[in-house]
Amino acid sequence: MSDPPVVRVAVIGSGPAGFYAAGHLLKASDERLEVDMLERLPTPWGLVRSGVAPDHPKIKSVTRVYEKTAAHPRFRYFGNVTFGEHVSRAEMLAHYHALVYATGSPADRALGIPGEALPGSHAATEFVGWYNGHPDYSDLEVDLLAAERAVVVGNGNVALDVARMLVLTSEELAPTDTANNALEVLAHSRVHEVAVLGRRGPAQAAFTNPELLELGELADADIIVDPEELERALELEDPTADTAAKRNVEILRSYAAREPAGHSKRIVLRFLVSPVALLAGEHGHLSAVEMVRNELVAGDGGSLRARATEEHETIAAGLVFRAIGYRGIPLPGVPFDERSAVIPNHGGRVLDPDSERPLPGEYVVGWIKRGPSGVIGTNKRDAQETVDAVLADLAPLLDGDAGAAGGTDASTVHMPQASDAETIEAMLRERQPQLVTYSGWEAIDRHERALGEAQGRPRVKLTRIEELLEVASLEEP
Ligand code: NAP
Repeated sequence: MSDPPVVRVAVIGSGPAGFYAAGHLLKASDERLEVDMLERLPTPWGLVRSGVAPDHPKIKSVTRVYEKTAAHPRFRYFGNVTFGEHVSRAEMLAHYHALVYATGSPADRALGIPGEALPGSHAATEFVGWYNGHPDYSDLEVDLLAAERAVVVGNGNVALDVARMLVLTSEELAPTDTANNALEVLAHSRVHEVAVLGRRGPAQAAFTNPELLELGELADADIIVDPEELERALELEDPTADTAAKRNVEILRSYAAREPAGHSKRIVLRFLVSPVALLAGEHGHLSAVEMVRNELVAGDGGSLRARATEEHETIAAGLVFRAIGYRGIPLPGVPFDERSAVIPNHGGRVLDPDSERPLPGEYVVGWIKRGPSGVIGTNKRDAQETVDAVLADLAPLLDGDAGAAGGTDASTVHMPQASDAETIEAMLRERQPQLVTYSGWEAIDRHERALGEAQGRPRVKLTRIEELLEVASLEEP
């Protein structure tokens, strides 16, 4: 009797959600389940490499967990392969029993105000990609040499990352893996004030406590909170405020009570203000931000929402970064809900938008499943829910009862036409001759770490696709 066939799952995307899904799948399954991971970039780890701020190395150490998954004998990594370009959804479904989409939310959300496209106005996603050496953003021009004040719109952790990166000293940045081109520009930055704008109040801010506390400990930047503005924004009690929100309020009150130490840079946290227009100066470059003052009013479900007043204020600024959240983008051929910018799903099973029934063989994890919220660890739980669904649907095959797959459970079991490891790899290599395997990534990793070691930094990132491929090719067969 021949051995039962191998059950193959492909994970599309190599960020935390993709790696947690791969890890859970390999842990829970027997010898017959194999996982392939496709990644658009030559390098893995998603936002851990290109989103987490360079001065947060501890957060990045989570990759050790993912490295263990990658070393698993039933795991393969195919980098530099774009789903929907090198290989279509239909082809993937013809080769795999299950596809798990883990592509995150790579786009930004727009404010929708006049002047948003002016030079000097950036999405935080671009700036974050730039200082983190993401190849898509290595040529971004951030005019830090002309601007004296930068405005960051949004009250989430990305806004704080951006604000902090703008005021860190060269000494604070030196031991980090900030991209070399960004290090150079940041070292000569003339920005000495960063205003962070919250449209609601301190009790509604999305900051997490450690990130807010960190602002008070910067080497050469004061943190400024106007006590009057703060208290005005706290007049209406927020019935939805949780422990973290209450702690944020305490921290902000302590900042408001502080005497500035006279540092050369400052972060000013503003509340109850929304930008309504970005204004151009003489040369058509951003020169000021017009804002409206808001008041808080009770919204649906008890939460407080911002309502614009008649009061306006204009502040000079040469740079604006909008940090008002990320947004998912559709994958070719895969259902997508434009309104929430996620793949429609029920507990991780992708839903047919017409029938609202699960599409056999298609699953989703992470931000493209639930939207761009939560910290890295949130994806571990989230991936478990999806993997439970995958394994439940594949149970007839994994239990060796292939007959059941053609029986009553057929609606949940997807049967590929052909599925062997070599055929899949050959197809992908034919489509993308510069495919990067995990050993290719390990060559990049070693190279970057060696460059960094000489400078007392964790790594010096290669920021161009050609450079990455060249180093990876040293290891490719
Ligand atoms: P976020 O936490 O959702 O914050 C988005 C902010 O933008 C909110 O303050 C929101 O205010 C505001 N906003 C939305 N639309 C706006 C508009 N039109 N005008 C003005 N403000 C607007 O998103 P994020 O900062 O992008 O972070 C994404 C996730 O990654 C979060 O879960 C975050 O904690 C996580 N993250 C964690 C770390 C870390 O742990 N160190 C670092 C970075 C990111 P409203 O509340 O009023 O809507």
